[in-house]
Parts: sequence; structure tokens; C-alpha cells
Amino acid sequence: MGQSDPFLNSPADPPAAIKRLGQNFLIDPNIVRKIVALADISQNDPVLEIGPGRGVLTEVLCKTAGHVTAVEIDPRLYAYLTERQAEFPNLTLVLDDALVYPVENLPSGTIVVANLPYYISTPLLFRLLDQRDRFPRLVLMLQNEVADRLVAKPGSSDYGVLSVMAQYAAEITKAFRVSAQCFRPRPEVGSAVVLLRTRVQRELSAAEEPKFAALVKAAFAHRRKTLVNSLKDEGYDQGRIAGALDRLALSPSVRAEVLSREQLIQLTRGMLSPG
Ligand code: SAM
Repeated sequence: MGQSDPFLNSPADPPAAIKRLGQNFLIDPNIVRKIVALADISQNDPVLEIGPGRGVLTEVLCKTAGHVTAVEIDPRLYAYLTERQAEFPNLTLVLDDALVYPVENLPSGTIVVANLPYYISTPLLFRLLDQRDRFPRLVLMLQNEVADRLVAKPGSSDYGVLSVMAQYAAEITKAFRVSAQCFRPRPEVGSAVVLLRTRVQRELSAAEEPKFAALVKAAFAHRRKTLVNSLKDEGYDQGRIAGALDRLALSPSVRAEVLSREQLIQLTRGMLSPG
């Protein structure tokens, strides 16, 4: 990082990676550049980075954005980056767990860029999408299988709760795969970078959204069963389900995995309306 005099100000060696914290550090500058380019950041934009690690992505983000907030859970990495803080006047380093850090206090228009720790990528993603009004886009490095589930279409084996709920919140593109060789240490799973452009327009009201989330979860809870049986097993009223399917001209033997997001939205509305 930076051009500091190596004799006067030689930085300490970076701390060794801790596997349980998902520490697979990027070592390929081309991948770093591609991630930052995909985020389409202008010089006034605020950016949130989760897990800055040794700062390889942070450094380029700071040169590109107006301000960067970077949340790191590992005190050793936090201390390592704090030592270099002088090089990055537009960086706010935070020592915290990104699962509890109050992202709702970040300014509206914040772009999220992260090589996520894979062990918590799904709950983290949903925390961020819950606050999507302030995040126009998110560029995330994820486990390749999670990326496939995020972009999966109805009828595919990857299609499920994650696909429906994430696609409800954002338009998602799988941008590129990243080889294990681009990290140290190398991850045991494949990786990919996804771009999520959050949806400004809400298709459901604030009151309907939790009902939709619950219905989607129940619909996919028993993958080998029909939608009617799956929902019945999860406590939904069979007569109401049958009525809603009938009004949507859907077969009583339909399975959740072939229903589009729009159909699941209509089903939620159908289940809520009387008759
Ligand atoms: N951004 C760096 C890079 O690309 O080389 C590091 C990415 S590494 C895959 C994930 C980073 O997230 C690590 O620095 C790890 O310590 C940090 N991390 C893990 N769990 C975290 C959490 N709950 N909250 C914040 N950071 C976390």
C-alpha cells in the first residue's frame, strides 16, 4: 500500500489468515480492478466495504470513491489497517461484526463492495437487502454456488427461497467467476462476483412483504411435495390455498419450484384476500 519510505515506515507483516473468519485474501490486482469497475463508483460516492482484510480492495476503493466505510471483525486486521490510515484520509475503519453493525445509519446512495466471508454471506446479504433503499447496488464476491442460486430461474434445481427473495429485492447478474488461484489462502469452493441492482419500486406493501417471505419459505419447505401439500404442512388453510390457485388458473398439483416470483406475489395477495 502507498509509497512510504520502507526504512522509515516499514509496515508490519500482515497477520496470518484465520480460516473460521473466511479469510481468503485477494492477491490478483486484475480481479480487484474488475470488481471496482463493476461497482461503477464516482468520486463523490459513499462506499461500504465488509471485511477489508489486508486492504487490497480498500486501497482501490479509497482512490475511486468519495468516502469508504470498512467494517472488519478481526482486531488484528483492524490494527494492521489503522497503522496505514494516514494513507487513506477518506477511510472510516470500524471494528465490528457486519451482522450487527448498524448499516441503516449509512448515507443513502452508498454502494456496497465486498469480498464476503462465505460463512455468513447469506444472512449478510439479507441484512443489506433489508436496507436496500440506501444501497443502489452491491458488488459481492460469493461462493459460486450461492451466486448460481441468486440468479436461478423457475424450474432449475438451484431455484429456491434465496433466488425468489433476492430477486424480489434486486435485479441480479452473475458478472464473472474467480479462480481459487486469485486468493491466499485458496478457498476450497469456487467463487464468483455478482452485481445486485436494488429495486426502487416495491411490488408489495410493507404489510404484505412479511407474508410473502413466510409464504415463499413455506412453499419451498418440502421440495418433493406439491405446493398445496407443502403449504398445508406449514399450517396454511387448504381451502384458502385451493381458492387462490384456482383464481390464478394454476393447477392444484403445481410445485413451488416452477412458480415465478410474480406468481408467488400474486399467490400471497390471493391468500390474503377473502373468498
Ligand atoms: N477484502 C479482503 C480481500 O479481498 O482480500 C478480505 C476478504 S476475506 C474473504 C473476508 C474478510 O471479512 C476478512 O477480512 C474477515 O476477517 C472479515 N470478516 C469475517 N467475518 C466478518 C464479520 N462478521 N464482520 C466483518 N468482517 C468479517
